Amino acid sequence: MQPACMALPSLPQMMHQLIAAPSISSVSAQWDQSNRGVVEVLSGWCRDAGFTVEILDVPGCPGKYNLIASAGSGPEGLVLSGHTDTVPYDEGQWTTDPFRLQEKDHRWYGLGTADMKGFFAIVLEAIRELDLGTLTQPLVLLATADEESSMCGARSLMDVQRTLGRHAVIGEPTGLKPIRMHKGIAMEAIRVSGTSGHSSNPELGNNALEGMHRLITELLRWRAELQAQHRNPLFEVEVPTVNLGHIHGGDNPNRICAQCELHIDIRPLPGMSLDQVREDMDRRLGASLAGSGLVMERVPLFEGLPAMETERDALIVKTLEQLTNSQAGAVAFGTEAPFLNAMGMDTVILGPGSIDQAHQPDEFLGMDQLEPAMRIIRDLVKRFCLA
Ligand SMILES: [Zn+2]
Repeated sequence: MQPACMALPSLPQMMHQLIAAPSISSVSAQWDQSNRGVVEVLSGWCRDAGFTVEILDVPGCPGKYNLIASAGSGPEGLVLSGHTDTVPYDEGQWTTDPFRLQEKDHRWYGLGTADMKGFFAIVLEAIRELDLGTLTQPLVLLATADEESSMCGARSLMDVQRTLGRHAVIGEPTGLKPIRMHKGIAMEAIRVSGTSGHSSNPELGNNALEGMHRLITELLRWRAELQAQHRNPLFEVEVPTVNLGHIHGGDNPNRICAQCELHIDIRPLPGMSLDQVREDMDRRLGASLAGSGLVMERVPLFEGLPAMETERDALIVKTLEQLTNSQAGAVAFGTEAPFLNAMGMDTVILGPGSIDQAHQPDEFLGMDQLEPAMRIIRDLVKRFCLA
């Protein structure tokens, strides 16, 4: 086999090319782009490095692709996973070009340096000298589509229960600290429908705003109960949250309000299933309107993301705790980890850079993170794929 080190560009060149290939994903069509460019660049390097590369269409998401690069065989295996897309950027707020890698003050600036196209370049650099022919268990690089919007890339792999490996690391920016938990996210629209009429006679209609008042009262009571029942001290906010984020109802003071709509955000803790949370909420809120003649409807604003927890004593957790000399914790952001775990992997989130710089103008990756990140990746490969 040709040594991989001959064929791959240098780390800064790989970083430069990944940042230069725009791959914004967004629920707004005006921003949304294909991730084809990033996937093509990555697939070329992975092939040159000796991996078998598959590029998979994501069903229902035209122009979006997952990439699976694999080497070696066996029942265990290590999956190094990241997303190929970035969030949109604030036009005019960047002091550098978001699509041109720029080095300044020992930092690499560019959209996706930390979150998280940079991770792929670092992985490839870390294994540059590795002879893939010596692997005793599989090493898989997974690059997904649309993590920042619908997560359709990872969801599609889960839907077909694609077998990838036993242990997984998602290289989201955690400052190289291992993370084994995050909360779930659900965003729901709750609509109350009544009947309009002249304000002078309440008998002429059925007031949806007054129904919403009852409903919100019940919602806050339910939230208090949830927070009394569920607590996890590994999280900065230890309890599940329910945020009232948006409300609109009615049109005129002299008309009985016929429609009122509330949008809420729910963040359940690990151990709370999204389905169960939604079911409980429907039952409670439905009961609060009993006998009113008002109609309630709840519509998810997106599919929702389950909470994620990987067992404290999973081998990948233990190994990364040992390698980083820190205890695996929890974060406030969501990832594709629940989908990877649902495919039979034990997943830890750990990557270079800080989430504080993600989704911000002048996103950067501190170059002091490069060597430590590569050392961790090499140690993982040694333990999980060469043992
Ligand atoms: Zn990310």
